[in-house]
Amino acid sequence: MAKGQLFIISGPSGVGKGTIVKRLLDETDVTFSVSMTTRKPRPGEVEGVSYYFVSDEEFDRTVEEEGFLEYAGNFGNRYGTPLAPILENLESGRDVLLDIDIQGALSVKKRYPKGVFIFILPPNMAELRKRITGRGTETEDSLNRRLGKALEEISYIDKYDYCIVNGELDEAVTRAKAILVAEHSRVTEDIYKLIDTYKEEV
Ligand code: 5GP
Repeated sequence: MAKGQLFIISGPSGVGKGTIVKRLLDETDVTFSVSMTTRKPRPGEVEGVSYYFVSDEEFDRTVEEEGFLEYAGNFGNRYGTPLAPILENLESGRDVLLDIDIQGALSVKKRYPKGVFIFILPPNMAELRKRITGRGTETEDSLNRRLGKALEEISYIDKYDYCIVNGELDEAVTRAKAILVAEHSRVTEDIYKLIDTYKEEV
């Protein structure tokens, strides 16, 4: 059976990545990689679905056991991608989607260069500012910090395979789905095997 593919989506905080990811989970067969985090759940977030919410001690233990594909610190909290479920899903032929920050994506690229790296961009900085402010959780200081970080993160776009400008949501989702489909249309080992069966028939 063909192995699944690993898709990594990242983009600056507030770019609307979460909404695109949710639509992909609803509308395609891709499996979400649930990360572990030491941050507290936000209203509406569900344990084991949004994240595994863990203590610092449990996070440390997983690091020691080499249970993460990658892990990183963000705004004072830590986030990690559990390795075992990803390997299991890919082996079973299921595509896996990671929603992780740029730092994490770069680590994944080193360990798993076959991954497909997708960057989500805002249509412009004014819109990003508006979206971050719209969450209502930011002070002026943390807003500026996030915008500064966004610009720095965008400078890593050359490490990515695809980028999607998230101006209009439906358009962005259509493009993301198109990437998933395109990546399953590559000339791979499986295609050579298929062609071998043609030869047997001629
Ligand atoms: P939030 O706290 O808003 O859910 O996420 C903050 C940032 O952490 C987002 O950019 C998100 O993509 C990133 N993130 C979530 N899970 C992981 C992970 O497992 N590893 C890394 N490196 N970043 C993550």
